[in-house]
Amino acid sequence: MKTLQELTRPNIWRLKPYSSARDEYSGASASVFLDANENPYNLPHNRYPDPMQRDLKLELSKIKKVTPAHIFLGNGSDEAIDLVFRAFCEPGRDNVVAIDPTYGMYQVCADVNDVEYRKVLLHDDFQFSADELLAVADERTKMIFLCSPNNPTGNDLLRSEIIKVINDFEGLVILDEAYNDFSDEPSFLSELGKYPNLIILQTFSKAFGCAAIRLGMAFASEGIIGVLSKIKYPYNVNQLTQQQAIEMLHKYYEIERWVKILKEERGYLEEAFVELPCVLQVFPSNANFFLARVTDAVKIYNYLVGEGIIVRNRNSISLCGNCLRVTVGTRTENAKLIGALKKYQ
Ligand SMILES: *Cc1c(COP(=O)(O)O)cnc(C)c1O
Repeated sequence: MKTLQELTRPNIWRLKPYSSARDEYSGASASVFLDANENPYNLPHNRYPDPMQRDLKLELSKIKKVTPAHIFLGNGSDEAIDLVFRAFCEPGRDNVVAIDPTYGMYQVCADVNDVEYRKVLLHDDFQFSADELLAVADERTKMIFLCSPNNPTGNDLLRSEIIKVINDFEGLVILDEAYNDFSDEPSFLSELGKYPNLIILQTFSKAFGCAAIRLGMAFASEGIIGVLSKIKYPYNVNQLTQQQAIEMLHKYYEIERWVKILKEERGYLEEAFVELPCVLQVFPSNANFFLARVTDAVKIYNYLVGEGIIVRNRNSISLCGNCLRVTVGTRTENAKLIGALKKYQ
């Protein structure tokens, strides 16, 4: 791996971060706060939130089994995705490599930051080859994006290939594990110590059932977390979000229960889909959604809209011709979908 300094944009490496009032004084013993130009009325919403989200990171560290120094929290994973471009990629010069198809935000953030985005098509079984990714990387490639289970294909990427990319690539590997809770594959989180160039993304938006609060997690070396923390907005995670996330972590058993139910429902839906005349192929999934190839994706999508059911039409995505992406819902919702598709002709 190149050194973190070599991988970081020089202006970011030199940057002296904004110092907020809450950075300067963060102790709990004081009782009179006249340092941040806040309004003393309208408790509890009058005070700025903790810029480093200490309480939340402490709770998270117990569940994720990594110390707070290895955790970055942002306004959704999307913030972390944008920040890695801003931290590590020189606009107009550097490039990144990613599998295709995958989550659309990597390319959007690359485009916004004027960073070349090099796509490598997955194989027909939606797997990838580490060597093919490494072959399109050059000395200006700062990051490789992997997503496992991948969106929209739903499958886990081969662990041996992921490890090969991490080991053989000189730059940073961003491994998006947004759907790992639904997979039987273990997270790479427990192996973070082995891989100084690995950044793992996870989110409160999927298994945690908290898409509305906008909270994403990045796990990486202390050095990488330091760089991201330095360039984030000072109060990027608001107080309501921090509180709600802590409450959620206190009832982690709920998340485990939801995941178990959703995996069962995924099986139910997939089995029913295989039997439908309008379904040509159901792709195996390790996530809370699956991809199905149908006779006519556009027509069936529009038909379902008419029935009040919205799925995602992935027809125009690489390798996903005539494919719909279906999120697993409650039994009632899933049964409605199956019922509607049975009626379709
Ligand atoms: C849904 C999703 C996310 C979550 O993004 P948030 O900004 O945290 O809501 C991240 N990565 C992938 C691949 C996703 O599908």
